[in-house]
Amino acid sequence: MKAYDDICVRVYRESEKECAVLSLETLVAEILPSSIPAEFEGEALRAQAVVMRTNIARQLPVYNGRGCDVHPGADICDTGHCLRWMSRIRQEKVEGDKKGQNWERIIRAVDSTRGEIIVVKDRPVIAYFHECCGGATENSENITGNRMVYLRKVLCDYCKDSAAWENERDLSLEEIEERLDIRADGFVATKGSPIEGFIEDIDRDSEGRIRSIRIGGKYFKGTDAKDLLGLTSTRFGWRPVTLRFISGGKGHGLGMCQYGAAAMAREGSSYRDIINYYFTGVDITAVKGGSGTPLAGKVFVLDPGHGGDDGDNTGPGGLKEKDVNLDIALRLEKMLEEAGAKVFLTRRKDTGVLLSDRTDMANKTRPHFFISIHQNGFFNPVVSGTEIYYYNGDAEGERMGRCIMERLVEEAGALDKGVKTANFFVLREAKVSSLQLELFYITNPREEKRLEDSGFRERVARAVSNGIMSYYRYSAPKQR
Ligand SMILES: [Zn+2]
Ligand SMILES: [Zn+2]
Ligand SMILES: [Zn+2]
Repeated sequence: MKAYDDICVRVYRESEKECAVLSLETLVAEILPSSIPAEFEGEALRAQAVVMRTNIARQLPVYNGRGCDVHPGADICDTGHCLRWMSRIRQEKVEGDKKGQNWERIIRAVDSTRGEIIVVKDRPVIAYFHECCGGATENSENITGNRMVYLRKVLCDYCKDSAAWENERDLSLEEIEERLDIRADGFVATKGSPIEGFIEDIDRDSEGRIRSIRIGGKYFKGTDAKDLLGLTSTRFGWRPVTLRFISGGKGHGLGMCQYGAAAMAREGSSYRDIINYYFTGVDITAVKGGSGTPLAGKVFVLDPGHGGDDGDNTGPGGLKEKDVNLDIALRLEKMLEEAGAKVFLTRRKDTGVLLSDRTDMANKTRPHFFISIHQNGFFNPVVSGTEIYYYNGDAEGERMGRCIMERLVEEAGALDKGVKTANFFVLREAKVSSLQLELFYITNPREEKRLEDSGFRERVARAVSNGIMSYYRYSAPKQR
């Protein structure tokens, strides 16, 4: 699987009790076998792959999904909670046989529908499915109470030859009483009385022995009935103890009927035909972010500190902070734009910009974040490390600061000196979440040396970009 690997999904795994980051396609392949038998027709598997991908996509931030509300930080969990409402996901884990023929079929179904989801007006639908509708699917309002335009009743006799078309279940009266919390007294008390249309014309002698009886329209002498039924005497009565319930279909009946899909596939329908049959008025389209735009819709103002003649820090080797700040900001701008964000810079050249002009830009643009980029300085050249500042009380600023710090430490070897509050002008005056990154001490000869290297500056920009991604729960792979 090549394309769309850049859509990352944070999956809470019950077995590991933590979040793993998987590509969307890998996740679809993992959960597909537990939602449909892998032996089903190829087009039915494809339709199911699109269905499952749609249900994952709904949870993602790019669609304003809420993620898993039980496991914070996860887009989705594998405990069954996030997907349980769609249908009964099979409980058996279909793992292990990842090299077998079935796994090949699964991979093919996922790969050939790569990135495709079901939408109405650009929003992923709730892609319900069930095993067998038993003749017709359901209108959503009859099941969930909500009318959904794409979950309309459609007739389906495609599933009629399937094993799930008719399902029998025998329940004893005691069980029925218990499950429904009722008493069947009146019914049970009919011991020995006629059952209309079945046991009639009962003739007993004064001792209660049956002289003759009609069962199923046929007359028997009491002694014959006793022998044929293997009873111990002709003084017998009867009482029903079990009822056989017969249900047509299997599942809630919403959305796609899987046995129907399989039969449609056998008759030559494509997965697109199948989806369009069971979901009314939907489109099949590429998932957003599939072109590498996980930050689509996000706006940032980057503020390269200093410029012109304002008093920036200078390293012992002569490297100027304002130049490093601008270089990193320009690199970061490119990375964020590639990820789909809209980015503004407070300066693009070595020009002085008033602090108030910088914050004005933030307040006019109303970005999701205003990020000021600096290198630190101190009279003592031994001092080194990275500090990130946010405005007191800005919880999102703090969280973003921590995400960025984590990546700077891991990917750029930064020394974490804290994500802290400060009352800096830009933080205070920018009326949006804002951060001031004091990336490295340019006055420290070792850190200055690193900053002189454009490869290192690229790495720093990437770490900040990755930190921003992980804030939005798109965990980019770490730089090695
Ligand atoms: Zn969940
Ligand atoms: Zn059906
Ligand atoms: Zn500075």
